[in-house]
Amino acid sequence: MTESPGKTPNTDYDVIIVGAGFGGLTALHRMRELGFSVRLFEAAPNVGGTWYWNQYPGLKVDVESIEYSLSFSHVVEQEWTWSERYSGPQELCRYANFVADRLDLRRDIQTGTRIDVAEFDEDTGVWALSTSGGETLRSRFVMMCTGMLNQPIKPQFPGLDSFEGTQYHSARWPKEGVDFTGKRVGVIGTGSSGVQIISTIASEVGHLHVFHRTPGYCLPLRNHAMPEEYSTRVKANYGAWRAAERYNSFGGWVALNYEIGEPVTGSALDATPEEHQELFDERWKSGGLSFYNVYPDTYTDLEANAVLSQYLQAKISERIKDPKLAEILTPKYPVLTKRLIAETNYYEVYEQDNVELVDLRENGIDEITPKGVRVGDTEYELDSLVFATGFDAMIGSLKAMDVRGRNGLTFSEHWDDGARTHMGLMSAGFPNLFIINAAGSPAPLFQPIILGQEQVQWVARLITKLTERNINCIEPTSEAEDIWGGLCEETVTATLFPLTDSWYLGKNVPGKSRTGLAYFGGMENYRQIMTDAEVGDYSDGFVLSTLPASN
Ligand code: NAP
Repeated sequence: MTESPGKTPNTDYDVIIVGAGFGGLTALHRMRELGFSVRLFEAAPNVGGTWYWNQYPGLKVDVESIEYSLSFSHVVEQEWTWSERYSGPQELCRYANFVADRLDLRRDIQTGTRIDVAEFDEDTGVWALSTSGGETLRSRFVMMCTGMLNQPIKPQFPGLDSFEGTQYHSARWPKEGVDFTGKRVGVIGTGSSGVQIISTIASEVGHLHVFHRTPGYCLPLRNHAMPEEYSTRVKANYGAWRAAERYNSFGGWVALNYEIGEPVTGSALDATPEEHQELFDERWKSGGLSFYNVYPDTYTDLEANAVLSQYLQAKISERIKDPKLAEILTPKYPVLTKRLIAETNYYEVYEQDNVELVDLRENGIDEITPKGVRVGDTEYELDSLVFATGFDAMIGSLKAMDVRGRNGLTFSEHWDDGARTHMGLMSAGFPNLFIINAAGSPAPLFQPIILGQEQVQWVARLITKLTERNINCIEPTSEAEDIWGGLCEETVTATLFPLTDSWYLGKNVPGKSRTGLAYFGGMENYRQIMTDAEVGDYSDGFVLSTLPASN
């Protein structure tokens, strides 16, 4: 192992990274560039993170792949070519493998190795991480790149384990695929995962029951093979386009589609109906999630929001021939307050004779029986049951891990009543441990790869400065967490997001608090806060100390 400058005695690495998704690969590359000794552990047998685990039928990334990609390596940008406008998980995993190989990251990545326990030693300020392979490794710093949508959830219906057929969760799909040919299949959940699964398996199954509670705004993805001309043009202008995306307005979600260009800045209420129509028609034609790039007050003002909500409600209704179905499937809540769903021929699926919608708006699922699902007096007999019921977002993966900070404090305890972080980067009681793309950050509303890159850069500069100054311990204060939690609340209250139950606010998990879950103040403000902390030498909200060298 190479000794890096300023390395703590008796540690194996300066930095241990957990998770080989795009955040983890970014962190590994950056830390190595800076000369730190670093090792990355990944539980899955290969790199790819969420795209390794989520390989359900029909999955396509809903941000253009050419945009949803790493921007820190010119070589990777220029040498990799996407085959589709919106790639599936297999291509995204091939891309992650290409990055790992091309940047020679593989030699510092240990796949198939879960971190079972991470324990902080208060005397030395060093973390000891025990792996599923039986090793214990010590590092000064830990970077948790474990993802914001990683911990799947299943509603605890009575009789859940009694079902005699096969059960699947969208987020843990078997790599070998599932043959549903001729089977009676039930899908619970019509968020992004459920909608893509339903649209894809409907033609294959014998009978499909869709257990449907809240209709979402499902919009055509308009996927197609990547035109060579577009790929060449983006590659020639990558720098400028990435910069434009990075510095975009509201959440930053507004880019999402290089073709649609400049973000809209005016108010929906100042524009004429003709201007609304022209803008929305353009977005509709472009497809995907391009509706995130509309009048910014759509996110904050009900009247402005209604202009877009009504446009999309009409677009959805006109795709559904049966008026009763149209009534059930057309969303009523303010658009954008829950994540848009990108789909291909979703609404048309309900015209098939073998597809049946089970409306759960009035009465939910009563129980899972050995033969299927019971709703009221009706038992739906099934061979297979698919849970597309989402994730314990933002906090789930760290709460599920055995991470023991000061006095053995776990994230499960510390985040029991809401996520407590400072700047969505660190938590009190967990010194020298950084969280990337998770609780307390703008992750739900920003392009997560870019956010991850910016957070990694911030952490990298922080660790460099500390090392230069011989400071080996940093931790946020509890007061800073209170203030950050307050700011998260203040920023979400200023938007329309609280009007709708969604995973953004933890509403999809019974009893989960929305406190501190995410920062809704936009990426520009978040970036400024990160910069201020750095310029201010981390004097506000952090405690820096130098512990004696470990022995
Ligand atoms: P989700 O958006 O949280 O959807 C979960 C679904 O399960 C909802 O329809 C929900 O209904 C339903 N559900 C939960 N509990 C239920 C119960 N007890 N009874 C009946 N229905 C129940 O989860 P997801 O679809 O996995 O998506 C999560 C996020 O992952 C997305 O918003 C997106 O950010 C990301 N994602 C992205 C892609 C992509 O890039 N293409 C694909 C998949 C996921 P209610 O709405 O009524 O609660």
